[in-house]
Parts: sequence; structure tokens; C-alpha cells
Amino acid sequence: MHDLAQYIRTVPDFPQKGIQFKDITTLLKDPEAFRLSLDAMQERFQEPVDVIVGIESRGFIFGGALAERYRAGFVPARKPGKLPAEVESEAYELEYGTDQLEIHKDAIQPGQAVLIVDDLLATGGTAAATARLVERLGGKIVGLLFLIELAFLKGRENLKNYRVESIIQYSEE
Ligand code: AMP
Repeated sequence: MHDLAQYIRTVPDFPQKGIQFKDITTLLKDPEAFRLSLDAMQERFQEPVDVIVGIESRGFIFGGALAERYRAGFVPARKPGKLPAEVESEAYELEYGTDQLEIHKDAIQPGQAVLIVDDLLATGGTAAATARLVERLGGKIVGLLFLIELAFLKGRENLKNYRVESIIQYSEE
């Protein structure tokens, strides 16, 4: 397990019974741990990136900081009804029901190199919906980058066509 794992707090039964919530606030508040997380994430993709798409809401924290490091633009993928201008939307499956993500139609130009960033990969449904939005706008996906991967949920299987990188993997709950 990566040294950074010690900064992540697991909170049982949040936000509902049975979920082992990976709390990254304990990592973010430590300047050295936050910086080392960004270093480790940035190392995984050395190629040029035009746009980082961060997934609401913790993907904004890592995606925003990484965008500055890559000298890339930052584009938020948001929950429905939050973005003010014209959007593309995409629905995805949750354990119970469905949810939706939106991105501004003019956020990505065809052919731009896009890196998708979130704090955590679980089932991969959220990330796969984000990838569909990026491709609908003509973006070329360089890969998907996560700080944490709950590997036992096999989210990668939902992202088979892409390069997926994560820094801290949990092999069991
Ligand atoms: P999924 O679509 O199943 O891959 O879920 C990924 C999204 O849900 C990410 O934005 C995560 O921040 C959040 N998430 C899912 N499971 C957890 C967990 N156990 N702890 C913290 N966040 C989680």
C-alpha cells in the first residue's frame, strides 16, 4: 500500500449503512500529503494535456490543482442543474436508481487532449459517463486518473477502452 494511504480516513456506514467511506479531507489538510498526492498523480501521465475534466465534487480539488501543473484548462463535470450555459448530459446507473452528469457544450474543442480526474474510482459508472460526455464533444481521452481505486469493485471493467491510473488501491472493503 502506498505511504499516502495513511492519510486517508475510512468512515464506516457513511453516507449509508454498509459503505466504507474514504475520507480524503485528512489528506488534503496536510500540505505535504496533498503535494505528494499531486506529484504521484502527475507522474502517471507525462504526455501533453489540453484540458482536465474534474468530476463533482472532489474531482474539482485534484483536477483544479493538476490543471495548473499541466498548464491545462479546467472543465467541471457537474450534477444536473448547476451549469448555467448550454449542456450535454449523460445518465448513469447507481446502486439504487440513476444519476446524471452535465458538461458545458463549448467546454472542449474537437481533438483536444483530455485527462479525466476524480478522487476515487468505485464502480466506474461516474467516470464512464464523464468519458461519454467528453467524447460527445470530440475530446480525445488521454486517460482517467484517480487518487484512490476500490479495486474489488472492478470499476476498470467499465473503462476498458481507456488508460486508467490510480495511486492508492484497496483490494478489499
Ligand atoms: P462510481 O461511479 O461507483 O465509480 O463512484 C465514484 C464516485 O463516488 C466518486 O466521485 C467518489 O468520490 C464517490 N464514491 C464512491 N464510493 C466511495 C467511497 N467508498 N468513499 C468515498 N467516495 C466514494
